[in-house]
Amino acid sequence: MVTIILDLIYPKTCGMCGKTYSTYLCPKCNLKLKTLLNKKQIHYPKEKYFDEFMYIFKYENEIRQKIIDYKFNKKSYLYKFFSQLIIYNYFNSIDTYDIILPVPINKKGLLLRGYNQASLISKEIAKNIYSLEFSNKILVKQRETLKQSTLKKTQREQNVKNAFAVVNNNKIKDKSIILFDDIYTTGNTTNECSRILKEAGAKKILVFTIAKD
Ligand SMILES: [Zn+2]
Repeated sequence: MVTIILDLIYPKTCGMCGKTYSTYLCPKCNLKLKTLLNKKQIHYPKEKYFDEFMYIFKYENEIRQKIIDYKFNKKSYLYKFFSQLIIYNYFNSIDTYDIILPVPINKKGLLLRGYNQASLISKEIAKNIYSLEFSNKILVKQRETLKQSTLKKTQREQNVKNAFAVVNNNKIKDKSIILFDDIYTTGNTTNECSRILKEAGAKKILVFTIAKD
């Protein structure tokens, strides 16, 4: 009943086309997006601290614009759309994991934007997958970093080195972890996060991102 009333006050709209619908992704857009999904699904990178990598889209065209809107154009509500898209299409790939952790962002960025874009989506995914726990208190940033996109490839590794910390090792010891971020570019940030998560006892890490640049 409460849900019905809430739906009347705040009608859901499709994150892609903006039409009012009963969920945040209408069937028409879901069908269209399905054709853009990364078909290969899981990658097994060598020489990385994470074990698996999965991204949904290439960082281009309408998806690129959607992510920019979400991150920079005050459209925080799009987290519902992105999480729904992930749950619809990747449920079987992620429901075997124990915990989902968002990649932390700089304090300055958080203050400016008001939210961590990866955190909102991760939290919503965990809310819908019973066995998956969410935390943004375990993996934290211990110093500010420069924007990776402003740096040369050789500087990126150094920029994030020792920038993260694990607060509670017990929470992740022997656990299968999804490390969630919005965009994967060189993978330096997620790799550095994975390094300290593995040091803290994580069993297995899947890096999951919306897009790959
Ligand atoms: Zn739509």
